[in-house]
Amino acid sequence: MLHSIPVSHIAGVGRAKQKCLADLGLWTVDDVLHHFPFRYDDRSVQSFETFEDGEKITARAVIEGVCAVRWQKGKAICTAAMRVDARSRVTGVWFNQAYLREKLVDGRVVVVTGKYNAKRKTVVVSHTEFSSKSPNADTKWVPVYSVVRGLTSAQMQAIVQQALIQYGSQMVDVLPNYLVEKYKLASHDQAVRMMHQPASAEDLRQAHRRLAFEEFFLFQLQLQWFRQQRGQEHSGMSRSIPPDSWQTFVQELPFELTGAQVRSCEQILRDLQARQPMNRLLQGDVGSGKTLVAFWASYAVFRSGSQSALMAPTEILAEQHYQQALNRLSGFSMRVELLTGSTPEKARLSILNDVKAGEVDLLIGTHALLTENVEFARLGLVITDEQHRFGVSQRAIFRQKGQQTDVLFLSATPIPRTLALAVYGDLDVSVLDELPKGRKDIKTYWLKQKEEDKAIRLVRRELTRGRQAYVVAPLVEESEQLQDVVSATELKQRLDDQFAGFAVGLLHGRMNGRDKDEVMRSFLSGELKVLVSTTVIEVGIDVPNATVMLIYHAERFGLAQLHQLRGRVGRGEWQSYCVLLSDARSDIAKQRLETMVETTDGFLIAQRDLELRGPGEFLGVRQSGLPEFAVGDLGQDFKIMEVARDEAAAAIAGPDFWLLPSFSKLREALQRASDRAFYKD
Ligand code: ADP
Ligand code: MG
Repeated sequence: MLHSIPVSHIAGVGRAKQKCLADLGLWTVDDVLHHFPFRYDDRSVQSFETFEDGEKITARAVIEGVCAVRWQKGKAICTAAMRVDARSRVTGVWFNQAYLREKLVDGRVVVVTGKYNAKRKTVVVSHTEFSSKSPNADTKWVPVYSVVRGLTSAQMQAIVQQALIQYGSQMVDVLPNYLVEKYKLASHDQAVRMMHQPASAEDLRQAHRRLAFEEFFLFQLQLQWFRQQRGQEHSGMSRSIPPDSWQTFVQELPFELTGAQVRSCEQILRDLQARQPMNRLLQGDVGSGKTLVAFWASYAVFRSGSQSALMAPTEILAEQHYQQALNRLSGFSMRVELLTGSTPEKARLSILNDVKAGEVDLLIGTHALLTENVEFARLGLVITDEQHRFGVSQRAIFRQKGQQTDVLFLSATPIPRTLALAVYGDLDVSVLDELPKGRKDIKTYWLKQKEEDKAIRLVRRELTRGRQAYVVAPLVEESEQLQDVVSATELKQRLDDQFAGFAVGLLHGRMNGRDKDEVMRSFLSGELKVLVSTTVIEVGIDVPNATVMLIYHAERFGLAQLHQLRGRVGRGEWQSYCVLLSDARSDIAKQRLETMVETTDGFLIAQRDLELRGPGEFLGVRQSGLPEFAVGDLGQDFKIMEVARDEAAAAIAGPDFWLLPSFSKLREALQRASDRAFYKD
């Protein structure tokens, strides 16, 4: 087995090189064979690495996947992924050349000329040549390896070549044949060879596709296998929830639940009654009423005789949940308590005592609840709000806290389904894709900077009607580098004058926690009428009386961020407004703002965000909690992930998975992989 043969068996690897390889984490022949180049220098055309941002470039690339066409004001915008070498992919953007759509097909070799944007990894193509030559006709791809002191990339290349000669034929293909045939995949052996010595971009593409699929398939198999095992380990814990619980809960509500809320509550009820522990993510757009669904879960668990814990990322959010829980749940003679860093010591001890005695039915706090030694008599359910702020390792802790604990995650960040598969592959997902009835759509306007006084007038009008307003700026203080960008501190001073007679508060990330909380509380209580802030405004904050969100330099914010900010208003009975002030010049910024004006649908916005930024950047903002892969790229390869997920599910559902000879090698690989976590955090 190649993973038990030390690197010293490779001819030419002596002590010194062995040590260098060890520094790279390469101990066995198998490790060396799978240490892939991190890029390839194409000696015949320039590499993207050497291009400067904004430079006009000419480069050869291979089109990948399909070309997407979007129409805007009667003009076509085509976008397609282009592979330049194994590691670099860029997005080509063609304006007004819809006729190219048929020619920009998967695998087509092109030589493009256009303007390169290094940050977005895009080329706005002005000239396209379709090469009739095969891609490798005149290219020479030179692999470049990550190395350490004492070992050059060329030496590394020689070692790999030698390893391939000695051991290449012994590489094991773990994928069952039916999958290789079904998806026309290269063999493992072929793919590895192509990664190390590609003759063409097409080689790399095939190698990448095969290896990414293999990796994702194993990952998904592992997730689903764990899940199956978890189910078996904990079988026999089904809760008995009195049948009248649902009726009782619903009767007490002052409003009608949305269809999506009812569906999610039912899914949760089924999970709670099932023999396996619940492990569910509740995804819902801002204002869709997730908290209420969470309360139902905790009420049902209460009726089954167990306790719940609800954790929020900040104290303010925890307090807000506490107030809402008192309103909704006290009527059911459920005892709800709040435990945060500001709970006085005496109260704290008595709460802890009561929790331990089983007298508290729902304990609300920040996620410090977990790390502190809070002991529960019968903890049945853990709920975490704004799940994306918690990493995967924390998810594991929740499960360990009580073996029989059901877990519910709430997230207000809509993630397109395909990505959710990768990020939350081990969870069931409920979606609240419907807003409560009678919610007025937030009116969104995009104004130029010089129309600022219109916005100010709108804010003043709302203030005189008794409403409150948020004003957001991109910076805390004035900056030398960004002289025309307004800061929150500066705005606060200006608005103090403009909104004389109304209390204006300031909130930003450089304030200490206590000051921040105080400002936030004054805004919650209605004492402050205007809150000038950077983006630190809490994600889940609920001030129904606030009806305006005014955002300065809106071009400086991402779509997801703009959507979250807008979600702070429109929570009460009044018409609400979101005003985006911006002199946006770049096309992408303009498209973001147009999207905001066009729609308030969070899932649609997330999808658009993904298209505009590309998945790499989209995911970048929440890197933590994502599994890491050697070859597969979660951003670019999510289609492969989807297929891998379905195939893994099909494989594991088959009764013969553990018996069939075609799975035997796969089983071994899986057992090896189960030690090595895909998750790094
Ligand atoms: P989210 O956390 O999903 O952003 P919340 O749970 O804070 O949303 O709910 C937003 C507001 O809507 C709260 O004030 C809540 O009481 C209210 N609400 C929840 N469900 C409904 C419903 N079905 N009908 C009317 N109002 C609702
Ligand atoms: Mg919420």
